[in-house]
Amino acid sequence: MAPDTPGRETQETLSNLLQENRRFEPPAELASAANITADAYDEAAADRIGFWERAAERLTWGRRWDTALEWNAPFAKWFVGGTLNVAYNCVDRHVEAGRGDKVAYHWEGEPDGDTRTLTYSDLLREVSKAANALAELGVGKGDRVAIYMPMIPELPIAMLACARIGAIHSVVFGGFSATALSGRIQDADAKLVITADGGYRRGAPSALKPTVDEAVAECPGVEHVLVVRRTGEKVSESGKDVWWHDLVDRQSDRHEAVPHDAEDPLYILYTSGTTGKPKGILHTTGGYLTQAAWTHDVVFDLKPDTDIYWCTADIGWVTGHSYIVYGPLANGATSVIYEGTPDTPHRGRFWEIVQKYGVTILYTAPTAIRTFMKWGDDIPAKYDMSSLRVLGSVGEPINPEAYVWYREHIGGSRCPVVDTWWQTETGAIMISPLPGVTAAKPGAAMRPLPGIVADVVDDQGNPVPDGGGGFLVVREPWPSMLRGIWGDEKRYTDTYWSRFEGMYFPGDGAKKDDDGDLWLLGRVDDVMLVSGHNISTTEVESALVSHPKVAEAAVVGATDPITGQAIVAFTILRGGAEESPDIAKELRDHVAKALGPIAKPRQILVVPELPKTRSGKIMRRLLRDVAENRSIGDVTTLADSAVMDLISAKLPSAASDD
Ligand code: ATP
Ligand code: MG
Repeated sequence: MAPDTPGRETQETLSNLLQENRRFEPPAELASAANITADAYDEAAADRIGFWERAAERLTWGRRWDTALEWNAPFAKWFVGGTLNVAYNCVDRHVEAGRGDKVAYHWEGEPDGDTRTLTYSDLLREVSKAANALAELGVGKGDRVAIYMPMIPELPIAMLACARIGAIHSVVFGGFSATALSGRIQDADAKLVITADGGYRRGAPSALKPTVDEAVAECPGVEHVLVVRRTGEKVSESGKDVWWHDLVDRQSDRHEAVPHDAEDPLYILYTSGTTGKPKGILHTTGGYLTQAAWTHDVVFDLKPDTDIYWCTADIGWVTGHSYIVYGPLANGATSVIYEGTPDTPHRGRFWEIVQKYGVTILYTAPTAIRTFMKWGDDIPAKYDMSSLRVLGSVGEPINPEAYVWYREHIGGSRCPVVDTWWQTETGAIMISPLPGVTAAKPGAAMRPLPGIVADVVDDQGNPVPDGGGGFLVVREPWPSMLRGIWGDEKRYTDTYWSRFEGMYFPGDGAKKDDDGDLWLLGRVDDVMLVSGHNISTTEVESALVSHPKVAEAAVVGATDPITGQAIVAFTILRGGAEESPDIAKELRDHVAKALGPIAKPRQILVVPELPKTRSGKIMRRLLRDVAENRSIGDVTTLADSAVMDLISAKLPSAASDD
């Protein structure tokens, strides 16, 4: 780029508008006993492959690998020649080491008092029985098994049973429709579906089996449907149906776990579908488990003997795969699993669970945190949460205001917050503070983890200087990277490896601040081009959320005759805040003051809800349709399609107001 030519600023890839000067040092006590020190960055930089080999040594291998990495871009093989059994690593070896009585899962059902405790010995028996049951159903190595279940212990048990025998699981989130489920069953050509009659959601049984029946009617390849009885509601039974309690309970509780190749597939998982058609992401065993376990250890500073760890995600998303099932179990952790919603039977349910089990590490999503902010500070204040020591966030950029609220009102201002950036495709955490090392900044994912080489580049692929914004890329392969898109090699190359030569492109925008720390700025498809400036949705949304009346915000760029695109903001007010006639002006001025006049929204709409995926992420493309008065696009991955009617109804009153 030519320096100091007119219009230079218009060539900037992504503007850096938000200034944030707060910093939180790691607590001294945590830092002095942390699982990892700052030296790890240098060690990994000096010998990245050797660093990952040492991380892989935390697992128990049947045969040690010959070659740590074989890289024929964009295809990686990790720990080539090595063999291991993922279920053995997650379960058996802890029992063999004398830790069989340690609790693996404290399970909390949604109905009050409905709980189960599974020790590692319990888990070993249940997984072994389930593995024997799968064999009886004719499921073997390499076969695909679709799992469509509520958050009950049989879900991780089913996944581990598949892993044990080398079958490939494809967990489909229990909120998806029959069409979405049958599409995923067909795409993976699954021969078995594991489900339940239903689960509990918002205080009532919520049926799953009728959806499975409808889906399986379209899937001739499905031979059996294995059904867990959870709610006891009546279900229709077909010739393919087998009850879990009839089949699994009578099996032997012994099953020998044979090692599988490090590159044998472990699972397929479809992305959340925030941007469009979900992709069937393929993960394998050795590298995946290495990075899932290692990151769970260092990013949360897990002390398996004393910590009680709770990740609130659904196991149907990658966060649940890596940080409820595989990472924590490989590390021998004690985890909490909760079946239901945060507002059942009351809005303090999460904090009641933290208090009840003495949760020490909590991992949740910005969408939940903003909801808790909206519900009010007085709710968490009623509970004793002094056991907490580390907090995590994942799923979307966390707005600085939400981060600070989380730190203060949940973490008692003493717990570090780790903002962890990663995706279904990366399999495990890639960019995150380390709680005992990093002086974290609210809203920043900070640095790539040791062993991860990520950068921010401009549209030509050149690194942006500190203070600049652009495209996030990963320069070197990492152990838990996706091995492809199921059945579509070309889409793998096109989607992730064609934008920049030799670099993985995740689709997210980011900036480096003046210290070189990384801030995620949202999806590059959502970036707004206003008067020649590329403005990130995240920065404008964070500015809005920093206004005391705003709980949540989503912004989009809508076509504008003068500026190219203009910013249209959809906001939800905090509990107690009034929708006054001058609120739009107040918020527009607030953004202009925080980020500069260029980022001032043309329109502000106060709405009751925002369109979100079932994993809780805002779907901006639908808001763009509203802002540009188009008919609304594909809503199949939307959690609640009625939301779009509520929002569209708000539009006529939303005239710009200068
Ligand atoms: P699809 O790929 O189908 O559109 P999705 O991207 O929402 O769905 P996931 O793999 O669950 O599916 O989400 C990963 C994405 O979530 C990341 O690419 C990023 O956009 C966002 N994300 C996750 N964690 C963070 C974080 N800590 N900060 C910023 N963004 C994050
Ligand atoms: Mg994605």
